[in-house]
Amino acid sequence: MNISKSKTLFSQAQHSIPGGVNSPVRAFKAVGGDPLFIKRADGAYLYDEDDNAFIELINSWGPMILGHNHPEIKEAIIKAMENGTSFGAPTAREVHIAERIVQMVPSIEKVRMVNSGTEATMSAVRLARGYTGRDKFVKFEGNYHGHGDAFLIAAGSGAITMGAPNSPGVTTGTAKDTLLAPYNDLEAVKQLAEANKGEIAAIILEPVPGNMGLVLPKEGFLEGLRSLCDKEGILLIFDEVMTGFRLAAGGAQERFGVIPDLTTMGKIIGGGMPVGAYGGKKEIMDYVSPVGPVYQAGTLSGNPIAMAAGMAMLDHLNDHPEVYEQLETIGTRLVTGVKKSLEKLGLSYTMTHLGSMYSLFFTDQEVIDFETAKSSNTELFGKYFQAMLKRGVYLPPSQFESLFLSTALKDKEINHILQANEESLKEILSL
Ligand code: PMP
Repeated sequence: MNISKSKTLFSQAQHSIPGGVNSPVRAFKAVGGDPLFIKRADGAYLYDEDDNAFIELINSWGPMILGHNHPEIKEAIIKAMENGTSFGAPTAREVHIAERIVQMVPSIEKVRMVNSGTEATMSAVRLARGYTGRDKFVKFEGNYHGHGDAFLIAAGSGAITMGAPNSPGVTTGTAKDTLLAPYNDLEAVKQLAEANKGEIAAIILEPVPGNMGLVLPKEGFLEGLRSLCDKEGILLIFDEVMTGFRLAAGGAQERFGVIPDLTTMGKIIGGGMPVGAYGGKKEIMDYVSPVGPVYQAGTLSGNPIAMAAGMAMLDHLNDHPEVYEQLETIGTRLVTGVKKSLEKLGLSYTMTHLGSMYSLFFTDQEVIDFETAKSSNTELFGKYFQAMLKRGVYLPPSQFESLFLSTALKDKEINHILQANEESLKEILSL
């Protein structure tokens, strides 16, 4: 495969951008080789600067749930652009998108738009602290909530991949208020609650973590957290930046029937534009400025182009519930196919799957938390990644990221992925 233009750009980029990229995981450090510089994307495909085509299994880390360049979203963006790109003043679209989110997401009665998932989680925890008058919060090892200081403690995603789970620059003062528990370990959370009685503002988690690879909540785990929070006056925050509008129209909370106090969202909600949001119960959200004392603001929040893209996306998902059936079918076909190949080749690697998210872990241990996820052979994953890329399939460049599927994957692409998977496994294991 000729990637000479990407190679030249990457080496040029090193001079003016730290590490040549604007977000660490893009540098392919965990899988080796040079990152591809992407020129355009359409439907299920990405095209690099050398005009190689790749079937997409990242989908911009989640948002492109309908594939790239979806005509309804493209049209909404172009139309909105004709009227100016930013006003810094209220717009009708913000009212419409807020009403749509309230209607679709079970826990949300009021919502505030921000510009990224990171802003959403930072704001939600600040709000929880302001509302409860407590300083501490619980997060789970291997969950990722963006790069806010308080979250960069045993964080997943790029933070694991780059081997810097505790980033320099995060002060010990900040870190001391972040309490850690292993994901899926309700007992550990109960002990934290007991040892810090009356001091914990919130428990924040990815209800279905995708940032240590995909991990599923054990039966009763989410429900157990809900009851503990009710008992102790702690706010439960679901970080649905990845799972929102993906695992169901109402996110993981709809799928599992557990209703958090606050929810953070991003990705799909902006239809590919930079957007995040946090929302929840009225009485809590009314604690936010200008009605309440907790300050949070944003010059570009509710940006008209971003709102137009997000509205077109949410309208489509709301009007086409069959999208979720399609995503289930695509997910099941791929996972069943990969499992079949594993069986055929006598391999006992672990797969996790829910709807349009899945992971293949290069370990034979059951993956239930950060520790078990880390038992994966990451070197082998790197080889698998390169073998798939060579065959035109673009996977997330880290073992510790979920794959994201889109409705643009049709028979042709599914068959291509499954064949590439079997060939790649044979190649890297010399079978
Ligand atoms: N929360 C979760 C669950 C995420 O997956 C991410 C990003 N992948 C974030 C928060 C941060 O979002 P952003 O990158 O938009 O700041």
